[in-house]
Amino acid sequence: MQRVPNDHPVELVAPDISPYREGNTGVPYFTSFDSGQAGPHVALTALVHGNELCGAIALDHLLRAEVRPQSGCLTLGFVNTDAYGAFDPEDPTTSRFVDEDFNRLWSPAILGGSRQSCELTRAREIWPLIDTVDHLLDIHSMQNRTPPLMMAGPLDKSLELARAIATPHFVVRDSGHAAGPRLRDYGGFAEAFSPRSALLVECGQHWEETSAAVAIDAAYRFLLHFGLVDEELAGPHLLPLPASQAVIAVDRAVTVETDRFEFVQDFRGLEVLAEGDPIGMDGDRPVTAPYDDCVLIMPSRRLWPGQTAVRLGRIERGEPAAG
Ligand SMILES: [Zn+2]
Repeated sequence: MQRVPNDHPVELVAPDISPYREGNTGVPYFTSFDSGQAGPHVALTALVHGNELCGAIALDHLLRAEVRPQSGCLTLGFVNTDAYGAFDPEDPTTSRFVDEDFNRLWSPAILGGSRQSCELTRAREIWPLIDTVDHLLDIHSMQNRTPPLMMAGPLDKSLELARAIATPHFVVRDSGHAAGPRLRDYGGFAEAFSPRSALLVECGQHWEETSAAVAIDAAYRFLLHFGLVDEELAGPHLLPLPASQAVIAVDRAVTVETDRFEFVQDFRGLEVLAEGDPIGMDGDRPVTAPYDDCVLIMPSRRLWPGQTAVRLGRIERGEPAAG
């Protein structure tokens, strides 16, 4: 794998997930608890990217605390366990994936195709179970130390869900990556008229201590919203809600075209640029902000052809405050 520069300390400890390998679903590292009562099938997933520790910590917390749904069915899944198995705090960037990004594979054409990789094998193993999930929270973290983001996708139904969860402050409406669809964009999750829904929460920097508390908070709030747990159970693990939410509508991605993409400065995300402000150089081509109040979303350090360098959006004005 190509190396990625890192200047962030590893404050979190990667939990031992080996006790969860067996699971009870037939899919290794996936465990389901059926309440026996009516209600939705809610899944929380972690480690779609193998070096994003906070989701694993949140699921480990729920499993250790023996949280069980009072209605519906709860599934807890550790996803890219091969990549996670290679996590090394001395070299924490290299275990994002084994062969390819797990979160660019989620279309029936790719999953049902003939191409092979470590991640495709795991995705095909999980795929039938994902088809039974009504509501998914996929827990991630970011390369840079920026505030948490709820990635809601482009549809109104997911924005409404993000508002109902009421945290974090920043909600991003986005349509993913040129390199392929994410788990949260799969099937009914991304169909306007399907009752299924999904959110992806970015809890902070990959190894920053606060990201674990954000992940645990998001997990409980998602379960609370769908009635799987009650306030009494969730309350002690919740963080204060933000006073409001700001919605950033991503309207384009800057996809790297050459093997010489460089940002003009060390962007960390959520910077606001004016029209024409320089963003970077892609080979000899300058990349500039296409409009005023242009917000940079998750600038990447994985700057090779076909990858998303950064996504651009605008803060939607006149949104009612949530929470
Ligand atoms: Zn991720």
